[in-house]
Order: sequence, then structure tokens, then C-alpha cells
Amino acid sequence: MMLSGKTRQMSLVACSSQTFLKLCQTPAVCLAQCNMSRSLNTRQTNNSSPEGYSGRKYVSKMYQNLGNVYPESSKLVCKSHKLFLYASIVQQCYFGGYNLLPLGQRVQDKLIKIIDQELESIGCQKMAMTTLAPAKLWKKTGRWDNIGHELFRLTDRKKTDFCLGPTHEEVITNILASGPMLSYKRLPIKMYQITKKFRDENSPKYGFLRGREFDMKDLYTFDATLEDATETYNSVCQAYSRILGRLGLDYHQVIGTTGNIGGSLSHEFQLQADIGEDTIHVCKKCGFAANAETEEAQNKHCTDKSCGLSISPSIEVGHSFLLGTKYSKHFDAKCKDRQAKNGFYQMGCYGLGVSRIMQACVEVLSSEKKIVWPQIIAPYQFCIIPLESKKECLSIAESISDDLNTNPRLSGEVVIDDRDKQVTFRLFEAKAIGYPYVITIKDKALQDQPEFEVIDTCNNESRFMTREQIQNLSMLIETV
Ligand SMILES: [Zn+2]
Repeated sequence: MMLSGKTRQMSLVACSSQTFLKLCQTPAVCLAQCNMSRSLNTRQTNNSSPEGYSGRKYVSKMYQNLGNVYPESSKLVCKSHKLFLYASIVQQCYFGGYNLLPLGQRVQDKLIKIIDQELESIGCQKMAMTTLAPAKLWKKTGRWDNIGHELFRLTDRKKTDFCLGPTHEEVITNILASGPMLSYKRLPIKMYQITKKFRDENSPKYGFLRGREFDMKDLYTFDATLEDATETYNSVCQAYSRILGRLGLDYHQVIGTTGNIGGSLSHEFQLQADIGEDTIHVCKKCGFAANAETEEAQNKHCTDKSCGLSISPSIEVGHSFLLGTKYSKHFDAKCKDRQAKNGFYQMGCYGLGVSRIMQACVEVLSSEKKIVWPQIIAPYQFCIIPLESKKECLSIAESISDDLNTNPRLSGEVVIDDRDKQVTFRLFEAKAIGYPYVITIKDKALQDQPEFEVIDTCNNESRFMTREQIQNLSMLIETV
């Protein structure tokens, strides 16, 4: 069952096989119009002309393709972790801590753009809270003493205690409590940040899947009544679905555990994967879906023999909590409701593991030695590989790169692998990195009617195209 799920993802969304097949018959102009509305919102226009365009990117001058050896025989068992090290997406700095290298940073930036777009569409505002959280705020809710050893604690020169905030309910509730009392007319307030989070993980493993520091998006919402807060809760869950949907991921929204965050209602967004450390119960027939640790799953809601319950390992990539007044009470954070009465804020909090999503989608989409990204967040959309022995091939590569760069949605999305190595070797590396399209410039490019080999790396399909056909293909590519 899991296998078929994965196959479906591959063919439906992450890859663009149909795009690839259809492009020969489709006129470029029509396609450009189809994409117009989408591109207007997502990309700034770049009117620089191909002449003098300075944005050519040469692999020979970039910190990537470092000749890493695939860690086959190492102790690592997690496919995406191995691929991330091999393709120079990350580099381990210490046990459980990873530096994000330039290719990885591009992917993360694109993922963040999608998150920003979807959260802004439901009225969320982006902000940033301090990384150091004063102990006195954490003591107000009792979590300073209750949260255990995963909290990184430190003391300044004046002996004041702080922690490296792994989550910010205390800090944000204190912000609202310190400001003027808001009327229900201003609500809901929805504020989020995307920042580094820290957790003193006892046994870090699998790279970003269980690290000691990671990038996380945390959103906090404030409403006057429980009904309003529930409505807000549902709108955020829908935004989460759109984010994961745009990545083409086959996710499950399941009833979640409340853990040390608390609250009355909770959902997790899960990706089925053998390496996953969570277990989810999902029934395709009646729609029941819950984390195995919840009461709902343990009460075996779904024991009817006609039900299609499946139990599988999975990776949690998002979590939402309806908190009620748990935090606002401790901080005396109040607002005025419709009856002009003062009441505690009804809160919600919502996390998305940004660096975890990056790796989890590679875990579920990729094969053993080749990264498959959701195309929209691939680090670059095109890699052009000119034959090393003929200089003309490099000039052609540059000119195709310039052409592609004039398409506003593809500006900056092309690299030229100009290294003095065999085409087959560079192609192998390009597939490992997961550029959706690789163009090789070989002898056929030097004919009177030049043709270029275009490889759809996800589907392992290749065909020869004219420059016009490459332009048509480029019109169909979705970027963020
Ligand atoms: Zn069922």
C-alpha cells in the first residue's frame, strides 16, 4: 500500500512527465498566457536583456559538486540524510547540527516563500522573536521545570537564566499581555516567525529529521471566543494542506497528541515513510486518521472488519494545537469580546518543520542515489552541460542560459556545468543533485539545424529539442 502511494506521488505531482511530452505541440505564446496569472503573483519581473546579462552561473565557480563519495557503507541508514551529504545540500558541523550549504539554502528559501504566501493569504503577519527566552517567562507557565532535559538552558554574566527557545508560547503571550487590550474587532491576531529552534536531543539522527537545531515556522493565533478560535484553527489547517499540496506531497492530517504544549484539539500533518519515527493509523474507508499515541487510536475506533485501517511509520512535518486559555491565563492576557466583557485570549499554535519538510520530501520522493525534489523548490530548474572538448559548445550553453534567464520565472534558475569532466560524469552528478531538467550540448548542437538533448531527471526520459521547444518547456515550469 505504501509503495503504491509513493508511485502515485511520483507520477502525479513531483514530476512533469506530461509537461515534457506535450510541449512539442504547444505554442509558446498560449502557454505564456496560461501561466501569466500565476507568475504575476509569484515572481518579480526582470527585464535585463541577454546582452551583458551577468547572471550566468558556472558550476566551476560554485561551492557544490564537491566530489563527495556516496556514504554507502557508513552507519547511516536514512536515504535522504545520505543524499543530503552526498549532494552537498548540508554538511555536518557537530553531532546533530548541520550547516545548510548554498544548494540547500536555495531550496529552503523557496519553501519559505510558499509558506509565506499561504500564511499571508489567511491574514497572518510575519515577525521575529528573540532566540534567548528569559526563564522568568517560562517559569510563569511552569514549563521551565516541567519540560525536562531537551531545553537548552544558559546563564548570562549577571546570573540571569535563559533558554534557547524551542517554541514561543510564553514570549508571544507576554507580547500581547504587555500591549493595549484589543477589541474583538481586531481579532484574530495571527503572528508567525521562521527561525532557528534548539532542542537538546538525546540521540540525534537522520540529519534534519531529528536534529538539535533546525528551522521551524511557528504561528500563534489570538481570538476572543472558542468558536472564533476554532474557525481560525480550521483556516490554518487548510493553509497547511495547501502548502503540502503545492509541494505535491501525499500527506495525512491525523488527530495529534498534545504533549507538553497542551490544548484541547490537535492535528498532525504526516508523511508516510519507513524511516519515520511516528506511527499513524489511517482508514481509507471511514476517514479515521490518528497518531498511534492518541487515545482515539488506542480506543481502536476503527475495528470493524469492513474498515480499511492501515498502520504505518511516518514523519511528522506539521502540528496544530487549539490551546484555549492555557497560556493567556498565566499572563493575564485579555481582550474585549462582543459583549464588551474582558476575557482571556483563546489561543492556537501551529508549527511547521521547515528544514524537516525539506528532507522529508526527499525521503519520500527520491530513489537511493538520486534526489527528486518537489519541482517547485528544486535548487535550480536547469543544468546545462556542454561537451568539454569543444569550445563552441560552451558558447551555445551560455546563450541557452541567457535565453532561459529572460523568462522572469526562470531568472537565476540555470547553472552551466562547465567543468572539464566527461558529460556522462557531470550528468550523473546533476541527477544526484536533482535539477529537474538537464540539457546536454553535444555534436548535434553543432549541426545546421541544432538540437539539444533535454533530460527530465525525475522520469529518466530524454529527447532532442530545438531551442524553440526548450523555450516552450520553460514556459510550463512552475517556480515560486
Ligand atoms: Zn475505518
